[in-house]
Amino acid sequence: MTKLLEGKNIVVMGVANERSIAWGITKSLHNAGANLIFTNRQERSYNKLVKLLEKHEIEPKAIISCDVASDESVKEAFQEIKEKTGVIHGLVHSVAFAKREDLQDEFVTTSRDGFLLAQEISAYSLVTVTNAAKELMTEGGAIVTQTYIGAEQVVPGYNVMGVAKASLEASVRYLAEDVGKHGIRVNAVSAGPIRTLSAKGVANFNEKAQVVEEKAPLRRNIDQDDVGDATLFFLSDLARGITGEVLHVDAGFNIIG
Ligand code: NDP
Repeated sequence: MTKLLEGKNIVVMGVANERSIAWGITKSLHNAGANLIFTNRQERSYNKLVKLLEKHEIEPKAIISCDVASDESVKEAFQEIKEKTGVIHGLVHSVAFAKREDLQDEFVTTSRDGFLLAQEISAYSLVTVTNAAKELMTEGGAIVTQTYIGAEQVVPGYNVMGVAKASLEASVRYLAEDVGKHGIRVNAVSAGPIRTLSAKGVANFNEKAQVVEEKAPLRRNIDQDDVGDATLFFLSDLARGITGEVLHVDAGFNIIG
């Protein structure tokens, strides 16, 4: 049987280490037969990714440096991706950042800098990479980003990132409209809390995970592999009729009042 992503070139942005959501996604995409191109920002992430790929015997098509805070860096990265692959069929955006101090206190104290930084790295980055990626999606394609319920409801401590995720989710819808005519779909997975490097910056993370375990219909937390398979679905032809959507992968937590 042909695998879901056999022969497809997919760019994965945001593997920092083996706890990263993007690493769970990588495993799902690899098992589905995708050719993988990675981008990362810090050298530390690059080194971890190289080791992980070796350990799991995954041969990347390319690993390229990309800091989404810089237009030049995004341009150069996608130029390099074009040289390496010619065409891409999918892109995974699993990137976010906010200052730690903006994820602890009250939202009302957020600084101008902190607000703009969270928007830039966590929301605008999807806009700029979609614009760059669409040029390489000459056979159509799919883009998937990662969001959180803090976009829809007040999750204490999530603060500036909740507002950035609301912006990200609205961007998914506007981008879906713009690129839909080129046969490109844009969707988001809204994952439950997962213990990652970024999650460490969010106040009371343990409590949030505990509440999910107690209240979610499935009475458990989700993991990187759950998100990986949902992201695979969005990238595959199985989701060909779906765009501009936010899919909760949270053991059902969002339906409980
Ligand atoms: P990680 O810390 O593992 O991943 C975050 C990634 O963002 C890192 O790879 C980091 O790269 C990258 N990044 C940050 N700034 C930049 C930048 N300027 N340019 C390029 N890359 C950058 O955490 P997660 O896996 O948890 O986060 C992935 C996504 O999932 C985020 O959007 C997050 O908000 C979302 N999410 C997380 C949840 C959770 O509970 N963990 C729940 C729901 C959504 P580098 O390390 O090289 O700086």
